[in-house]
Amino acid sequence: MSAQPNFLYELAGSMSQGAAGNPTVAMIEAAFAHHGLHWRYVNMEVTPQDLGTAVRGAKALGFRGFNCSLPHKVTVIAHLDGLGESAAVMGAVNCVVRRGDKLIGENTDGKGFLKSLSSVCDPRGKTVVLFGAGGAARAIAVELGLAGIRQITIVNRSAARGTELVELLKTKLNLNANFVQWQGDYTISSGTDIVINATSIGLYDADARLDLDVSSLKAGMVVADVIANPPRTRLIRDAAERGCQALDGLGMLVNQGIVGVQYWTGIEPDAAVMRRALEQALGL
Ligand code: NDP
Repeated sequence: MSAQPNFLYELAGSMSQGAAGNPTVAMIEAAFAHHGLHWRYVNMEVTPQDLGTAVRGAKALGFRGFNCSLPHKVTVIAHLDGLGESAAVMGAVNCVVRRGDKLIGENTDGKGFLKSLSSVCDPRGKTVVLFGAGGAARAIAVELGLAGIRQITIVNRSAARGTELVELLKTKLNLNANFVQWQGDYTISSGTDIVINATSIGLYDADARLDLDVSSLKAGMVVADVIANPPRTRLIRDAAERGCQALDGLGMLVNQGIVGVQYWTGIEPDAAVMRRALEQALGL
């Protein structure tokens, strides 16, 4: 018989479709173990039609929170008790937090990016060029808007998604935002402080090229990529060669995990432990 006292684990988790092999599990459980927390983070595959039942189940079982990924980021909102500020602006939730007896939806994608960015610069008053207008771009743009940037240019291949994001930033955040349709190599204007790739270009392909005139990247600019695998994307390598401050997508992913753990447990987890676990899980 074990001499250990019985204890219940606190639970957090992830609701997704296709739950196998999620590196986030390794990263978050490494933080729990490192800080001696009797917590578990479990991955559950939930179909769209079972989402409401799953959320009520997590509440009944005392889950302290959970992440949710596609296709649940928007539809989960109908099953929650409230939303954090940026999640309400975006209309998308990827992290749910129990506060008292309420389940509140947050969005940690953009917050993870902002935390990573804040390690090298203060976004207040900055001019930004953002490539992409999908879920990651939306989360980043909203969080940058809430953090007080001065101006943002959204560069996207499809005009429909790009203009929709610009309208959201203008109407909901009163942000100085404009849209440029992406055609040929884009030239970054000299007054730009921060350049971000939030497209999927570069995922699993270290040589994939953004249509960008790299000679317009100037020393002193911050250049960030959302792509976490591989982290040394062509954009990150080009930016570093040109003397820019380069921020890889692993930083965003780790910081997203950190924000989730902070929300659920109230502790400030060790970033190095989480990054190591993530790198191991990704085979980097
Ligand atoms: P979406 O599918 O919502 O958006 C994809 C974006 O990439 C769109 O703007 C799309 O343009 C653009 N795009 C894709 N292929 C091309 C191409 N060949 N040329 C030009 N534009 C292209 O994806 P998400 O926003 O959810 O995710 C984007 C990336 O961000 C993913 O690779 C994901 O891995 C990464 N990510 C990283 C995170 C991190 O923590 N590091 C967190 C979340 C996401 P269009 O509108 O014209 O189709």
